[in-house]
Amino acid sequence: MKIDAIVLAGGRGSRMKSHTPKQYLELMGKPMLYYSLKAFEESFIDNVILVCNEGEEDHCRKDIVIKYGLNKVNKIVAGGRERFDSVYNGLMASDGCDYVYIHDGARPLISQYILDRCQHYVEKYRAAVAAHPAGDTIKLEDGNRFIASTPDRDKVWLMETPQVFEYGLARSAYEKLMASRDRLKDAGVHITDDTMVIKMFENVDAYLVEDKYCNIKVTRPEDMIVAEAMLESGDEL
Ligand code: C5P
Repeated sequence: MKIDAIVLAGGRGSRMKSHTPKQYLELMGKPMLYYSLKAFEESFIDNVILVCNEGEEDHCRKDIVIKYGLNKVNKIVAGGRERFDSVYNGLMASDGCDYVYIHDGARPLISQYILDRCQHYVEKYRAAVAAHPAGDTIKLEDGNRFIASTPDRDKVWLMETPQVFEYGLARSAYEKLMASRDRLKDAGVHITDDTMVIKMFENVDAYLVEDKYCNIKVTRPEDMIVAEAMLESGDEL
């Protein structure tokens, strides 16, 4: 069995209010991106495809991949304007595999636990995603900042990454997405994760794999404090 991981490190992370793209900001003296690459390095995954902004490939190779001996990173490719463009470029860079892990480089707290559980469920259901049940009550708004409805909290889950799929399924879904991206844009559809794409184009439902460790996405400056505190307290909390 061959398993690839696509680690996403494109985009600017404008909500971080930093000139340096957030994936390169340091946590405990090492770039944020290092931590998820290290998790894949120490796992059963065979190859890692790193997707970065165009022009940052050499920086990633020299200052992260070579510097920290991340030998599973066998390709570094440029991403695109949207996250889904970057995922597509990563999928196209693969030489082909059985399963593919798609992971946000902005989630440095990914654990071996969740990699193992996702593998178990993707083999059963073709699509599996790390997630956790909502702690807060979620509201849907009406478009004018008033609450329109309240989904049943017991059925609300927050998506994380990795999002894991049979490679052929993911590739086929993303090829169809790219062929219809203008139509979707005109219809105002926002693609914000991979499970959406697999459902929309292949009609496959992803299994929700409950993550028991903190696997936050670093989005705002205060998330750096939380991520660093979690990293300092040990590999897995
Ligand atoms: O911006 P956001 O935090 O939602 O991005 C999620 C992940 O997708 C990050 O790891 C970011 O580096 C990546 N990304 C990307 N290409 C883009 C936009 C975001 O690889 N065009």
